[in-house]
Amino acid sequence: MERIRSDVTSGVGWLTENIKFQNSIISNAPTERLAIWLLEKFKSLPIQFESASVKNSIDLVNKIKNTKIADNEIQVSFDVESLFPNVPIDITLQILHDWLVQNGVHDIERAEIINLTRICMSESWFQFNGKFYKQNFGCCMGSPLSPFLANLFLSNFETEMKKNAYFPRIWHRYVDDVYAVIKKHLLRQFLNQLNNTKYTTIKFTHEVEDNGKINFLDLVLIRNDGILEFDIFRKPTNTGRYITSDSFHSFQHKISCFHSMIYRAFNVPMNEERFNNEIKRIKDIANLNGYTDHLINELIVAHKRKRELRNHTNLSLITSDEVAETWSGFAHHPELIGGIKPIFNQHNIKIGEFSEMKLKHSIGGSKDKIEAHHNSGIYAIKCNDCNKEYIGQSRRAIIMRYGEHDRHITNEEPEKSRVAKHMIENGHKMSIANLKLLHRVNKCNELDAYESYYINRNKNNSMNENDGPIYNSIFGKFDV
Ligand SMILES: [Zn+2]
Repeated sequence: MERIRSDVTSGVGWLTENIKFQNSIISNAPTERLAIWLLEKFKSLPIQFESASVKNSIDLVNKIKNTKIADNEIQVSFDVESLFPNVPIDITLQILHDWLVQNGVHDIERAEIINLTRICMSESWFQFNGKFYKQNFGCCMGSPLSPFLANLFLSNFETEMKKNAYFPRIWHRYVDDVYAVIKKHLLRQFLNQLNNTKYTTIKFTHEVEDNGKINFLDLVLIRNDGILEFDIFRKPTNTGRYITSDSFHSFQHKISCFHSMIYRAFNVPMNEERFNNEIKRIKDIANLNGYTDHLINELIVAHKRKRELRNHTNLSLITSDEVAETWSGFAHHPELIGGIKPIFNQHNIKIGEFSEMKLKHSIGGSKDKIEAHHNSGIYAIKCNDCNKEYIGQSRRAIIMRYGEHDRHITNEEPEKSRVAKHMIENGHKMSIANLKLLHRVNKCNELDAYESYYINRNKNNSMNENDGPIYNSIFGKFDV
């Protein structure tokens, strides 16, 4: 517990010191690791709280597939209006407290947990239009703890609402969306109660079925003569665009969307006509992205084989949770991966590929930009008077490192920096206009590798003394 606490304090200190240099606070929030630690702790507690939440649409289907709907009933979907910022934190922490008591968590530890949870929810910062904002109310966006706390609050909310005489006969929730079946004449009273609880920030909107049909998550739920039937729902705005076949991505990534569409088609009970239509739609989407019907047919065969195997054996597949797996991530590069995969396989290390070539990198993301000089990473300083260039790394903003080189020049300290040495010995000058960020690096352990790579790429004009911290022959062999 002590260790965690000191992490938090230094985290907050780090935040106030470095806030202006961080590009995206949300994904690198200082409390992120703490939040993950707390979440693991909550999930490991023996008594989990009662909840009407479903994991996904397949889970929902399994729970309601044999449901009958009476003539005087109606399908409704409810939606909590902007859930996260409206979750009352103090009340939720009280619910958390009671649940920890129920789980027999000791007084002192309980107080610590509540305190740490409060810290996670109060340290939420985000950047907009070049300015920093702090979220004052509710669960903060982007924290791994927020979905858990929102669910804890809503589950408690549901338990209280269930005492209500108007509560729907069927009620299943996915995060902030609810599918419900209620008697028609009770809907108005129920809505009235739902939106007039003591939790004044929590408001629900609702939608009723149209002609016996209602869209919920990625499903269409259809009542036909009192029996519930299903179809797949795609938003009208769905363009059917996925990773195209000619993209520079690993094949597994490219076909993963089709795997999940096929899985869904087989696991949502549909009549023959709807099923065939869905397969046709999957093929249309495949064609649109440059894949053949043949590929889809192959994936379907593979999927059927897997299903049969599962139906004909009582042996269960060992899931990844049970076997410790080691994974290593590499940028997609077919030749490189093809070469090293067998070596990694020998040591039981699996290779995951990610894509570095993104359009976003070329045209820029939607996030607020921090001026290049205020980033940490690999930088170059080009001499004003000759074509020599210095490559360096900095854990702080590169402009601060530039200032240090500048001082060494002013103080005539050539022994303290290679840049100063070059400028002093040759009587050359440098200027801030020739400071360039080559690669933004946020992870300290990646700095040496990137520095070595850039030094070796620019060997001929280098002011640097040596090849950099790591010289790996890979840099010479491949044009990475
Ligand atoms: Zn020079």
